[in-house]
Amino acid sequence: MLASSSGKVFIMYQFYYVNDDQTHNPGLHHEVHTEEHAKRLGIRSKTYVGYFSNEIDAVAKAKEIYWDADGCATCCPKAHRG
Ligand SMILES: [Zn+2]
Repeated sequence: MLASSSGKVFIMYQFYYVNDDQTHNPGLHHEVHTEEHAKRLGIRSKTYVGYFSNEIDAVAKAKEIYWDADGCATCCPKAHRG
């Protein structure tokens, strides 16, 4: 059951990946991206994190892979810490 009775809640499940190469980002941490954004950025080496309804859950899971995982400012703004 994903829709609320008001019909105003939309839950968008997306595939999330964490970039294996942290050297391409100014904060030098492993960034989490949606599949679409990772593709647009041309990230070659990435690890599949999972299928989540929000980036906060995705980054929490990514931290089990890379302790310094952080959300991308563009596609995961709610989980972005810089
Ligand atoms: Zn991104």
